[in-house]
Amino acid sequence: MTRRNPTLWSTPSTLCCVPIAHPQSIEQLTALLRDEPKTVLLAGGTDLMVALNHGSQRIGPDELIVSLKEVSELSIIEVDHEQRLLRIGAGVSWDELLGAPVDALAPCLTQAARTVGSHQIRTSGTIGGNIATASPAGDGVCALVALNAVAVLTSPAGQRRVAVEHVATGPKRSVLANDEFIESIEMPIIDGWQGYSKIGTRNAMVISVAGVAAVLSANSNSCRIALGSVGPTVMLAEDASSIAGDSIDWSNFEISADSLEHIGELVQQAASPIDDHRSTAAYRSHSVGVLARRLIERGVEEMRNSK
Ligand SMILES: Cc1cc2nc3c(=O)[nH]c(=O)nc-3n(C[C@H](O)[C@H](O)[C@H](O)COP(=O)(O)OP(=O)(O)OC[C@H]3O[C@@H](n4cnc5c(N)ncnc54)[C@H](O)[C@@H]3O)c2cc1C
Repeated sequence: MTRRNPTLWSTPSTLCCVPIAHPQSIEQLTALLRDEPKTVLLAGGTDLMVALNHGSQRIGPDELIVSLKEVSELSIIEVDHEQRLLRIGAGVSWDELLGAPVDALAPCLTQAARTVGSHQIRTSGTIGGNIATASPAGDGVCALVALNAVAVLTSPAGQRRVAVEHVATGPKRSVLANDEFIESIEMPIIDGWQGYSKIGTRNAMVISVAGVAAVLSANSNSCRIALGSVGPTVMLAEDASSIAGDSIDWSNFEISADSLEHIGELVQQAASPIDDHRSTAAYRSHSVGVLARRLIERGVEEMRNSK
């Protein structure tokens, strides 16, 4: 095993006898991932600690937990006016997504953040953790897919950009390599309308039974509809998105009842849900169709009213 560099351990600590490193910068984090053969990244811990407590994930004595909390670059929220991009560090918490500038520039992400867990979960949990955990029910992921966001992945080998919808490859599986981490998420600033809706068994502290994010872009007269909890990963409903973009009258901001019905049907066809302890497949399919139809209808109406 490579010798550990003590300078990267600002405040060495342990978790059940497993050492925890606290890198302070991307440079230190990347060096750790290069030098340490077995690492487990820890952000807010709201998924990881649950998995460890339940025993669905174990950390061996030769593994090193790497806390991301003190890596300052992971906490950025930046607006690039020239490129019309919003850049959010992977370590930004749900709570931090509730305020400016995210609420104005990516309101469907703020709406998704507002639905997550409880105040404690929103304070600790991060957007990067939501993507990396690769749950089909990730509320933040659903909003980011509709926003056409890109994850910036960094490793000792360099950097690559992957569309958020392609980061997860299945439940709890992702394209992330062992020595790779999500540094930030970039999304275009879109003029138009966006919204997020979720169905759960109650109003708070609930993983979604079905979730839909819709982004209506007046820049490109197009639409993106993302679906959560109705397949192995969060997915883009491609046909429904394309028909929605074509059906909206972008001059007068109108859409026919028939088109809305058709969009709902296409969304249902895109879904491939399962029965589980939270819901039935049939209810999930029905729900995403209704949620998508209502979101598009509301979006078009609100754009018309604010003309
Ligand atoms: C009670 C409760 C309620 C919840 N409610 C919701 C909800 O309503 N909606 C929802 O979507 N989620 C919910 N969650 C799940 C969880 O809060 C989110 O997925 C959260 O965003 C995970 O972020 P974290 O920082 O806590 O990740 P962690 O638990 O620290 O990490 C999760 C995984 O991601 C990896 N990881 C973390 N950061 C990075 C990174 N930057 N790069 C690469 N890998 C990384 C870790 O190694 C780990 O495998 C809930 C969880 C609990 C316990």
